[in-house]
Amino acid sequence: MALPDSFLDELVARSDIVEIVQHYVPLKKSGSNYFGLCPFHNERSPSFSVSPDKQIFHCFGCGEGGGVIQFVMKIEGLPFLDAVRMLADRAGMEMPSDREQSDEQRRARERMLGMNRDAARWFHSLLQQPQGEQAQAYFARRGLSRRTVTRFGLGWAENSWDGLLKHLTGLGYRPAEIEKAGLAVRGSSGGLYDRFRGRVMFPIIDVRGNVIAFGGRVLDDSKPKYLNSPDTPVFHKNRNLFALNLAKKSRQGRLILAEGYMDVIALHQAGFDCAVASLGTSLTDEQAKLMSRYTKEAVICYDSDEAGQKAAQRAIDILNRAGLEVRVLRVPGAKDPDEYIRENGSEAFGLLLRKPQTDGEYRVAQLAAQYDLTQDDGRIAFLKAAVPMLAAMPNRIEREIYAHSAAQMAGLSESAVLAEVGRACARGERRKRQETERKALQPLRQVQPHERELRYQNPRSALCEEKLLALVLQDQELLDKARKKVSPGAFSSDFLAKIYQKAIERREQGLELSAAACMAGLPENEVRHLSGVLAESVRSREPEREIDDYIGTILFEYEKRTEQDGDDLLRKAAGRRRSKEGG
Ligand SMILES: [Zn+2]
Repeated sequence: MALPDSFLDELVARSDIVEIVQHYVPLKKSGSNYFGLCPFHNERSPSFSVSPDKQIFHCFGCGEGGGVIQFVMKIEGLPFLDAVRMLADRAGMEMPSDREQSDEQRRARERMLGMNRDAARWFHSLLQQPQGEQAQAYFARRGLSRRTVTRFGLGWAENSWDGLLKHLTGLGYRPAEIEKAGLAVRGSSGGLYDRFRGRVMFPIIDVRGNVIAFGGRVLDDSKPKYLNSPDTPVFHKNRNLFALNLAKKSRQGRLILAEGYMDVIALHQAGFDCAVASLGTSLTDEQAKLMSRYTKEAVICYDSDEAGQKAAQRAIDILNRAGLEVRVLRVPGAKDPDEYIRENGSEAFGLLLRKPQTDGEYRVAQLAAQYDLTQDDGRIAFLKAAVPMLAAMPNRIEREIYAHSAAQMAGLSESAVLAEVGRACARGERRKRQETERKALQPLRQVQPHERELRYQNPRSALCEEKLLALVLQDQELLDKARKKVSPGAFSSDFLAKIYQKAIERREQGLELSAAACMAGLPENEVRHLSGVLAESVRSREPEREIDDYIGTILFEYEKRTEQDGDDLLRKAAGRRRSKEGG
């Protein structure tokens, strides 16, 4: 659905980017811009800038950038329309689409949620019947009480091709709706059949209490062991967590992140009602962000095997990025928390949970496990690997604490380890300073956009096109002068020509010429590049002369290109003539 430009303009005008960014990132004013630590990558000194004049943000470290809408999309993990809706709510504006389209959409959504609820009831009722016996036996074997089975609404999908289909069509749902909800699959011959067959069923419920999807597990060794609903209009697996509907009410002050449905259920049953799991995917930034709405602390409790521990390392970074304090809990002598609780009881798990490792401790311990610390060689190799990791930790106190534990593990003096870490930090700072200086000395550095799709054919011209755009997007009189002398058709880059064309159209329609508004509908890679171009441009003292220089180059390069094309055509024509004469 396309939103009218006038609506987006008003939205951007009413949403001051500095004010909005400040909700998430502390900013300090410096010159005409604001600076802070980038929320999109880890850094110690601020390279994240927000320009109130241009109404854009740009990170000189990682290259993220855009206008206020892109900022909200990125930081909240929202698609475009949802970000627009969030800003519109904040600005007290009504979404234009809410009036016409959404009634129908809302009805379809509610129907799908109703169907999911009916399906969950059906699976749950089958579990109580004789044909659900083996599923009941499975849950009993896994130690689940009847109360837990009811609390999680667990169920059984019978091993038939159309049991659920018949049930749902009997309730008045159309086959196409059932397919769209991911409950049925269309076979190669065109017929529909049940997606979940012969599986114990775990309904996935969102924080509002809606059944949005299902996970199903087989009882034997057939593959796939777990099968999940596909993404549907009511379910996005990257943006939901299993059992968050229950865990959000927990009073334990943190969330435990486990790997699987059964771990989460076992934890809840044992009294740890703050457990959640990602849904058949590895943890995503959106899921971490969602967790951070309910807690400040996350405890990762993954499987003990290598894959689980690798996933835990990854999850630490993702959760840190979402601003969560991270701890890691390992279950000694068991393959996962479910097994640990079954073998040792919930009290033993409670004791473990009293002192989970901090992420730093966990990392040092994981690293130490890779070396033989009884040997000198092993100790040296361990230290070599630990020093850069310690030096990368963002604060001094952390570095000292973990340098201490690393030193203890390797049987070395703490001061020696700290000295090494100090030297590595200094090297890092020095490299960073040199990098900044290098950038300052080479304003023309990388002309090429990072994204391959945007690669410039004619960098010389494209650079001038970028600079021209940066100037005219800030001053409509300059745009009026420029458009008389050079048209978008003379640009070498289609991408830059498109922005220029958009600016001209907006001017003709009497719309405001804001960079943020021009960026509104662009794909992410284009926004990133453009925000960088704009953020680096400085107000020129003689903008008109500068613009004439740029136009001069653009036109010169354009003529060169057209002449070449002309030559090519002539050559081709000549070639054809020759081949005709020859034949
Ligand atoms: Zn950044």
